Amino acid sequence: MTYAPARARELLARIAEPLRAAPRSPELDALLARLESFAALSDEQLNAASALEAAAAPLGAMRAIPGPSRGLVGATSNELKKLAEAELAAQAERAAQAALEAERKASDFDATLPAARVERGALHPIVAVTRELEDLFTSMGWTVLDGPEVETEEFNFDALNIQPDHPARETMDTFWVATPPGAPRLVMRTHTSPVQVRAMKRLKPPFRAIVPGKVFRNESVDASHEHTFHQMEGLVVGKGISVGHLIGAMKTLLRGIFGREIEIRLRPGYFPFVEPGFELDARCPFCKDGCSVCKRSTWIELLPCGMVHPNVLRAGGIDPEQWTGFAFGLGLSRLVMLRYSIDDIRHLLGGDVRFVSQF
Ligand SMILES: [Zn+2]
Repeated sequence: MTYAPARARELLARIAEPLRAAPRSPELDALLARLESFAALSDEQLNAASALEAAAAPLGAMRAIPGPSRGLVGATSNELKKLAEAELAAQAERAAQAALEAERKASDFDATLPAARVERGALHPIVAVTRELEDLFTSMGWTVLDGPEVETEEFNFDALNIQPDHPARETMDTFWVATPPGAPRLVMRTHTSPVQVRAMKRLKPPFRAIVPGKVFRNESVDASHEHTFHQMEGLVVGKGISVGHLIGAMKTLLRGIFGREIEIRLRPGYFPFVEPGFELDARCPFCKDGCSVCKRSTWIELLPCGMVHPNVLRAGGIDPEQWTGFAFGLGLSRLVMLRYSIDDIRHLLGGDVRFVSQF
């Protein structure tokens, strides 16, 4: 039942009636006077809050009420109390709704608009492939090494058996770093291979390590050339390491990248820091009888590799009579391009969010 002053008046009268007939006492007189003062209120004044106060009066003075009337007076007072409480609760609810409505009108909040989309980040494809390869190699017991991007001429060239007059120093289009006269010459490393020598100086053989990282060439930039790109060097030094181990490691590497067995072939290749040196080709993973990626040959030139040259082992402080090793230099940027069919190397470090958010 909803609250109305008339209904409250009716209940107040029902409470007072048995009290008036009962034997008088000062407490009872006081209670009756209080009830009458509520009954005398105007309709406007006899609102739910006043009605609640009125109901509290007899409930708080039960001892003044003669026994036979207590049941009826108590029950009626409770009815009045519940009616008033229900009305007050309804009023509070209406006020809260009104406040919410006012707030909605004041701001331009619109609960029917779609929520703002949360932009999700993603790994750059180079980072993703690097991590995959690191996982693959560490699962086989290899170590992941890092090296400086600004390298000494000694580590970048000399220790790798690249003679001072060797054309590689020219063909690698080196960025030389300005250094004071007489100080050792510094370069932006042109390959990750100097870390081979650093690793040999630091680690005791036998060891297996990969070195992913950035390298730099002073090249004119086009769709397939970039001044900054990524390589991953691999180096194994141990007793009785042979070309067979090299082939096994390369097959595992390709299986890890492409998720299936990839046929490979080795062609002789010349690099000063390996002897013998090879160019490793992989059977084109995208076609059966020639496509644009493999230039219709069904083979893709993937990486240079070979057995570590004795001079390089010596430069790293390792006795080539006791130890042998193999090394490979994987073009990480090129591999990422192959894997995701990216046709322009400039996308990789171009910093365009539209490009990287596709992965
Ligand atoms: Zn192909």
